[in-house]
Amino acid sequence: LQSKLPTVGTTIFSTMSQLAQQHGAINLSQGFPDFDCPPELVELVAEAMRAGHNQYAPSPGLLLLRQKISQKTQQLYGHACDPDLEVTVTSGATEALFAAIAAVVQPGDEVLVLEPCYDSYVPAIELSGGVPVFVPLRFPDFSVDWEKVAESLTPKTRLLIINSPHNPSGAVWKAADLEALTRLSEQHPFLILSDEVYEHMVFDGQPHASVLTVPALAQRAFVVSSFGKTYHTTGWKVGYCIAPAALTVEFRKVHQYLTFSTATPLQHALAHYLDHPEHYLSLPQFYQQKRDLFASLLQPSKFELLPCAGTYFQLARYRQISKAPDVEFAQWLTKEAGVAVIPVSVFYHNAVDNGVIRFCFAKMEETLRAAANRLSRL
Ligand code: PMP
Ligand code: GLN
Repeated sequence: LQSKLPTVGTTIFSTMSQLAQQHGAINLSQGFPDFDCPPELVELVAEAMRAGHNQYAPSPGLLLLRQKISQKTQQLYGHACDPDLEVTVTSGATEALFAAIAAVVQPGDEVLVLEPCYDSYVPAIELSGGVPVFVPLRFPDFSVDWEKVAESLTPKTRLLIINSPHNPSGAVWKAADLEALTRLSEQHPFLILSDEVYEHMVFDGQPHASVLTVPALAQRAFVVSSFGKTYHTTGWKVGYCIAPAALTVEFRKVHQYLTFSTATPLQHALAHYLDHPEHYLSLPQFYQQKRDLFASLLQPSKFELLPCAGTYFQLARYRQISKAPDVEFAQWLTKEAGVAVIPVSVFYHNAVDNGVIRFCFAKMEETLRAAANRLSRL
């Protein structure tokens, strides 16, 4: 059988979580919380199930949930979106990313990808016959080199994929980045796919630079978010996509035949829980405390932490401990030191290895302390 994705193997997230389990390591690799979601949310799911909300949801998503998403988007970003025509609930952000790419990328189209990048973008581009065009982020601050982006645009560029707060680096966009993107968009008709799943994890009092805050960008963008990140429910796989009506029509054609709809009782629960904005409004502080705790715990270690402005990931250099390639080091750390992490080279198509690993700090204090203890012995 000729593979349609010959270079794709098992995702690093499965690989490292499995290795962590095999070796009884503390798992700071795959990004997910080791604490539970708010108990009220679980109650709301149970209530929805008991009330008989157990059949297919409408394909675009439960109307009440789309309305709540629209209200929240208006309040946070000043962007009015029509719940009927511009909001679609998906089975995780992963589905939304795939559907947006499949909806607009034609064979031969170029898609600009800023690297390092989340690992689901490129396979989706390739399955659509698109050509990924890689633009490296600057190292070590992972800022966007807008000149390089401008140079990489061609008449074939169909889509630009962006991601702030950024996985794996924890870098966040500033107002100047939105301005630079707006200027480029005035000169070129590319569409935008903005992965904003970590929108509520921006630290140090900074605002989240959503493309929805800029009308000129919002009118050509698919904006994707994930309830998994915001509500500590990565296992529920519920996300959504906001896009102008004309783009949403195409998006929904794919969504309709990819999954048709997303788990009904979960949508009911989330729709009601969105009446509690205090949850997501407290997330920056909640995760900033974890970031700061983890950093202080690693102070005595030989790891050199890179700045983290958002997400629940912390990057660290390990060259004082080992000169091994990062994939090898991550495996060694899991097996020998009992802490699983993600090597950052896997987020580059050409495996750029800067001797940096990624820790996930969405963990209970005791988990972070236990991990830091092991890491500080190295
Ligand atoms: N984009 C980024 C940058 C992510 O980190 C993740 C979570 N792994 C996703 C998309 C996918 O989100 P979901 O779990 O909702 O599919
Ligand atoms: N987004 C998560 C991470 O970056 C993992 C998601 C997954 O396992 N597919 O770790």
